[in-house]
Amino acid sequence: MENFDLPKTWQTILDDIESQVSPANFVTWFKNTELLEVVDGSAVISVPNGFAKEWLENRFAHLLTSLFQKHASGITRFECRLSTAPSRLLRPQPKMVEKTPTMFSHSTTNYSNLQTKTDESKPSFTSHQSPLNPRYSFHNFIVAEHNELAHAAAKAIVGSLGNLYNPLFIYGGVGLGKTHLMQSVGNAVKKEDPTKKVVYISAERFTTELVESLRNGTMEQFKSHYQNLDLLIIDDIQFLAGREKTQHEFFHIFNSLYQLNKQILISSDRPPQSIATLEDRLRSRFQGGMIADISRPSLETRVAILSSKAEEKGVKLPEEALVYIAENIVHNVRELEGALNKIFAFCQLQHLTPTVALIKSILQDYLVKMQKNISPQDIIRITAEYFQVDGKLLLEPTRKQSIAFPRQIAMYLLRTELALPLNQIGDLFGGRDHTTVLHSVEKIESGKEGDKNTKTALHTIHERLQAFRSE
Ligand code: ADP
Ligand code: MG
Repeated sequence: MENFDLPKTWQTILDDIESQVSPANFVTWFKNTELLEVVDGSAVISVPNGFAKEWLENRFAHLLTSLFQKHASGITRFECRLSTAPSRLLRPQPKMVEKTPTMFSHSTTNYSNLQTKTDESKPSFTSHQSPLNPRYSFHNFIVAEHNELAHAAAKAIVGSLGNLYNPLFIYGGVGLGKTHLMQSVGNAVKKEDPTKKVVYISAERFTTELVESLRNGTMEQFKSHYQNLDLLIIDDIQFLAGREKTQHEFFHIFNSLYQLNKQILISSDRPPQSIATLEDRLRSRFQGGMIADISRPSLETRVAILSSKAEEKGVKLPEEALVYIAENIVHNVRELEGALNKIFAFCQLQHLTPTVALIKSILQDYLVKMQKNISPQDIIRITAEYFQVDGKLLLEPTRKQSIAFPRQIAMYLLRTELALPLNQIGDLFGGRDHTTVLHSVEKIESGKEGDKNTKTALHTIHERLQAFRSE
């Protein structure tokens, strides 16, 4: 059982991973890894740094465990170990940078050398930043009761970067306009003063840059790049949660920006206090600024949004049609836009005028398709992702509160979303008694209104399930 050909097994798994993740992800997280040993069904993977350890053990745990199962069925779990001795696989450490040039080396010969040799892992952090999207502006952002506060705060910081609300923390569910609003701030700042340095970056990309900078010995450039900004916009900060080292570095950059009165704008899918694995000092920093939420738009607002989006595209739809769409698509603005696009595309293709009857028939089709069936495994996975725990742990008998609570939530959702029988839910969770399941469901049911954690968790997971269904 333990007689694995370690390099060969690992290479097979790496090949499989490479076909499943983006090239950037593959290079960043798997490039310098090795399978060191297998003891009692447990594999030890050598990784070059703490970031890779965190990512492999959290983000990629599910994928890795299933690939071990597929290619080396004797391996049921794994852990990561920091490689201490420099391995032949490791890329040069900072001190050796002169010998192996990076993008920061200014010599042209070195530069071309790099391109031919290690093109796939270009170590330039600037290459990751997506420019601001000019499509997003305050002009086409509709303000209503659900986003009033966030909008007002966002507008206010444009004219007084770093002085008013710092950081400004905007949170809300998927597709509700966080990215749009934050990019509007960036665009407005640039419009007012093109010399201002603005960076918009997702927390995931920020992490990738950070890791690459560490690996390439360009941490100083990385830091000074960020410390030179007038406005740093970080989207979806929940993805930083649980990654200790990233948080640690982020905290330092955050602090220096803050002390220099530079503006920081952050978004998340939930308020800082609900990001369980966020470092305390980061959380309290976030709470020290301004926190504004964006909730779901009301029916009237959904109609207004639809009408403005239709107008943007030069199409006028009857009021009754707008109301019909808004009544049927309730979760977020992205879905409203999706429905409109579908209707327009159909009418254009068939050279038809979008009448109410036609829209109804197009939408009926769309709504049915939108309701992609969700499986119990999807619910368990999405719940585990929300709590950032390994989905498999939920199925095991541990009583640890950090697992027990997510498990109860998953059971509750299986019951309420899929109407699964109690004993079937019990079976899914390693043969638990139906009364245990019932107890869990009742506990969540009764905490749903009063308990903040329960409420936020259910709300966010519902939104994710909805987004997943309509993907
Ligand atoms: P989030 O970042 O919260 O997931 P986005 O900002 O990506 O959501 O918004 C999803 C889509 O909905 C985008 O196309 C955006 O332009 C649109 N949208 C969201 N809120 C509004 C609004 N208040 N006014 C106009 N468009 C909006
Ligand atoms: Mg977004």
